[in-house]
Amino acid sequence: MTETHTNPCLSCGACCSTFRVSFYWTEAEPAAGGCVPPELTEKLNDFRAVMKGTNRPEPRCVALQGEVGDFTSCAIYENRPSPCREFLMALDDPEPDSACDRVRERWGLPRLKPLDPSKRG
Ligand code: SF4
Ligand code: SF4
Repeated sequence: MTETHTNPCLSCGACCSTFRVSFYWTEAEPAAGGCVPPELTEKLNDFRAVMKGTNRPEPRCVALQGEVGDFTSCAIYENRPSPCREFLMALDDPEPDSACDRVRERWGLPRLKPLDPSKRG
């Protein structure tokens, strides 16, 4: 496991400021065993909820604290929804061109796993 003081996510937050973070609505329903704070979510449709702030053209999750690329943290880390738990930080992703690194590039941040120039498209 990555040591906290070297965890690149703590100076990034790019994924939390790029994607619509949606999940099955029961994740934010305490009566159904959900642990995501419902007040930080909103209904997307009959089946899915989203983290507030992420269903818009320039997403930024309401639970993200700090400045992207500087000092960031998730205010509900222990109770974050499944897409956040499943999103792999580049150094944990076996893919050479991970979604993490691609979204970091969109924010002007350096890749965590530099691509082999001969494999760039
Ligand atoms: S884009 Fe990657 S490094 Fe940045 S916060 Fe998300 S998982 Fe962490
Ligand atoms: S819940 Fe936390 S990890 Fe998930 S997008 Fe929001 S700030 Fe990021």
